[in-house]
Amino acid sequence: MQVAFKYRIYPNKVQSIMLNKSFGCNRFIFNYFLNHKNEQYKKTKRSVSYNECAKLLTDLKSNFQWLKEIDSISLQQTLRDLDRAFKNFFKGYGFPKFKSKHNHFHSYRTQMVNDNIQVENNKIKLPKIGWVKLKYHRSHKGKILNATVSKTNTGTYYVSLCCETSDIEKLQTLNTALGIDVGIKSFCVTSNSEIIDNPKFLEKYYKKLLKAQRELSSKTKGSKNFYKARIKLAKVHEKIANCRFDFLHKLSSRLISENQVICLENLKVKSMLKNSTLSKSISDVSWFKFRQLLEYKAKWYGRIVSIIDTYYPSSQLCSNCGFKNEEVKNLNIRTWECPNCKTKHHRDINSAINIKRVGLVQSDLKPVEIVGYEVFETGSSYF
Ligand SMILES: [Zn+2]
Repeated sequence: MQVAFKYRIYPNKVQSIMLNKSFGCNRFIFNYFLNHKNEQYKKTKRSVSYNECAKLLTDLKSNFQWLKEIDSISLQQTLRDLDRAFKNFFKGYGFPKFKSKHNHFHSYRTQMVNDNIQVENNKIKLPKIGWVKLKYHRSHKGKILNATVSKTNTGTYYVSLCCETSDIEKLQTLNTALGIDVGIKSFCVTSNSEIIDNPKFLEKYYKKLLKAQRELSSKTKGSKNFYKARIKLAKVHEKIANCRFDFLHKLSSRLISENQVICLENLKVKSMLKNSTLSKSISDVSWFKFRQLLEYKAKWYGRIVSIIDTYYPSSQLCSNCGFKNEEVKNLNIRTWECPNCKTKHHRDINSAINIKRVGLVQSDLKPVEIVGYEVFETGSSYF
């Protein structure tokens, strides 16, 4: 299994210059070959292969000496990335885009060849860069396959190590399952009636974010103060992203350790309808990240994440008797009583229970395997 470990790195002045050159050269190679591939395709209706590009890269290096200054493996990696981007395009994904110099995020990737990447005592050795100071807050596991070096728009550098590992122990199998609904007022609500709020610090940072945005818009574009305000705004964004990631990381770890199966909605459409404010749009981003974290941790630890269809009316159905109450479509209704069985419901908890029920059916688990769950089924839909 491949696992990524990300660390902050602190290059010195000379190293930063080299890293910036590496970003630039890799961007140049990417754009140069993207253009080349486009031109050739127009002329010959044939896609240029990786090997052809690699050969051309060797010629290119004799014309552009500065390309020789940087890690040559990273340039080959860029060609491979471009090749894959084209293959993905033919599979129906978007067409590869040119990389802009004016983008504020930069990165390049290099592969492990003959121990050219090493980690020891809070330092990492990167090809052509040398030993760079690194904040080794947790140890990586397994064999390093490749390293991606990046620089964010606040000028912070990171390295992400992709490692091949088999020593992640599976957790002991449980007979518990959980349904999770996106809360309207909270981050999420579970079928165990747990209401998980958005962390308080986010509120604090939203205010800072708004302030930084206002400051930036009051500055003259291109001026020194504009530049300062842009960095300030980017720093708030970065802070929010880091805190949010920490919150999601801890929450997903806990839920995965407590449950064998976790059921979620495939949320795209629904969340867009629900959310309009800034804080909500940030929690949207969180939700997708949260799902990713749950999915990869489930894979590591031998758990199951079951994603249910977006169009399933989870909030309108009574989780006790299956009665469909269309009135609950109104988002202002927080609690309701089932007209059929008179059960009193908290909107989101009821929804989470329904999500759990359907998720269990979809995950091909016999409901009895998980705490004797019963499934209502009438006609083609559940209930
Ligand atoms: Zn009912």
